[in-house]
Amino acid sequence: MIEDDPASEASLEMIRAMVEDCAENHPECKPDTPITSFLPTRLLSVSDKLKLIETSNTTLDDPRYLALSHCWGLTKMITTTTATLKSRLAGIDETTLPKTFQNLFRLARSFKVPYVWIDSLCIIQDSPADWDREASLMGRVYSSSHCTMAAAASPDGNGGLFIERNHLETQICDIFNFPNEAPANLYTEEEEDSHPNAVINIFPPRPSWEKLIEQGILSTRGWTLQERLLSPRVVHFTNRETVWECRTAQRSEMDYHMSGLASGSVAMTDSSRIFDKRPFKTEVVDFARWYRLVNLYTRRSFTKDQDRLAALSGLAQEVQQKMGWHYSAGLWEEDIVTGLAWAPNRTPGTEHYRPQTYRAPSWSWASIEGPIKFLRSSEETKEESNIESDGIQLKVLSISVVPFRSDPYGMLKAGCLTVRGVMLIAAIQKGSLVLPQDSQGSQKHNGKTGSSWRKFHHWIRRGEKGQQNTPGQPREPDAGKVSFGNLEFDIPGESQDQDVYLLQVCLGNKPPALCDAMALQRESSRKFRRIGWVTRISKEAFEACGYVEIEIE
Ligand SMILES: [Zn+2]
Repeated sequence: MIEDDPASEASLEMIRAMVEDCAENHPECKPDTPITSFLPTRLLSVSDKLKLIETSNTTLDDPRYLALSHCWGLTKMITTTTATLKSRLAGIDETTLPKTFQNLFRLARSFKVPYVWIDSLCIIQDSPADWDREASLMGRVYSSSHCTMAAAASPDGNGGLFIERNHLETQICDIFNFPNEAPANLYTEEEEDSHPNAVINIFPPRPSWEKLIEQGILSTRGWTLQERLLSPRVVHFTNRETVWECRTAQRSEMDYHMSGLASGSVAMTDSSRIFDKRPFKTEVVDFARWYRLVNLYTRRSFTKDQDRLAALSGLAQEVQQKMGWHYSAGLWEEDIVTGLAWAPNRTPGTEHYRPQTYRAPSWSWASIEGPIKFLRSSEETKEESNIESDGIQLKVLSISVVPFRSDPYGMLKAGCLTVRGVMLIAAIQKGSLVLPQDSQGSQKHNGKTGSSWRKFHHWIRRGEKGQQNTPGQPREPDAGKVSFGNLEFDIPGESQDQDVYLLQVCLGNKPPALCDAMALQRESSRKFRRIGWVTRISKEAFEACGYVEIEIE
């Protein structure tokens, strides 16, 4: 049933039929803005001899283009650079380009689409200014493409779009059931039709539609998440079959062969909404969708660590535009308290570390490399903000970020969160989080004397280090301290013994006596940086602490 050769005329015809059906019959898949309102800075013209064009210098009669979603891999990628730009504009010898690119040109020509967009050739790779500007336009490049072709199973440019298939994995076996009669192959098609139960189709074991895409190497790469989500339609060239996805329909090659274009439309269930290709609109999105996306996104990897925010820039712009929220370092200011409550997701085989080059402030999930998870929901935060109990909740007074270059959604060179909240000083001793105890042996601070930051700090220092102990109090640093709460360090290597400052973030009304806190390290008098997250800490521990106003960087 499935073509052995994904490059056969029949295979190309199937893809063309799916693209045309979508373009003509799916109102949901029509671009939000006219096709001519955005053009990538550069495109590759495939109509005649292959060459790079600059769209500002050219009038395009038919501006449709196919975009490529692919892995660069470890092989040296052919790129456009400041030195090669001129020659690329004059013409490119196709035979020198990787197989994936050549496959893409074949598709474009066969569909009579005059242009294609490939990142390595359409962005000047050695010009930081060009790269930064183009990276910030990437979302629009994919969302305005006629169709995106995804090299789902190719680790690098040599893999191609058209991947050879294993016949045994794809073919349906027909078993004929004509008891006491002649062997089935002696029957004509008409006779078979008159015996509807006579043929049993045995399908080879087959992964789900989503698995076909997700198990490909392309789905492990960071850049390709927004490429998939923002494209109006995508053809995934997997190593088993070709898979179609648009805002209206999801369809596999098997579906197409079984029931044609009427097949494969899938109702969007809640669990698949993460990949709902409909763009972010108020009726289908909430903050939770963003957090789910970030969870998935942080499991993906990059060749360059510093791309982590840049490769989400297009998606962030889309959400910002649709929802009117304000974006800072991978989080939304309108739901910032929920956004601050993240922790590393330590599943087998994962590793967490800080990237070599600064890319985001410590309070953002983007400051660390490795999978993360969000710990709370927006609903919980909203509920808490309505609770009057003692009026204790973190107030974010201001958020500022400084982009590394021009893209405010991309890599950052600084970021600062100014907050007013309740802070407690504790310590890590011999690997345990400890809190000073008062003379009654309770975890509670005596009285309200620690209500200002300075006094409170002083009190803790005295109790903690035994420097200004009053007579009768234990002098050993370990004595008079008890373990409490669960502190998880963002990076395991940062868990050495030290003072640690706990900023109460979430009231945690379930269970009522416990709350969450951000664990901070002090940089200077008012400046702190996040090093971890504490869950299930007793609210009582914060009772005697007054409000402080601090900056977290
Ligand atoms: Zn469609």
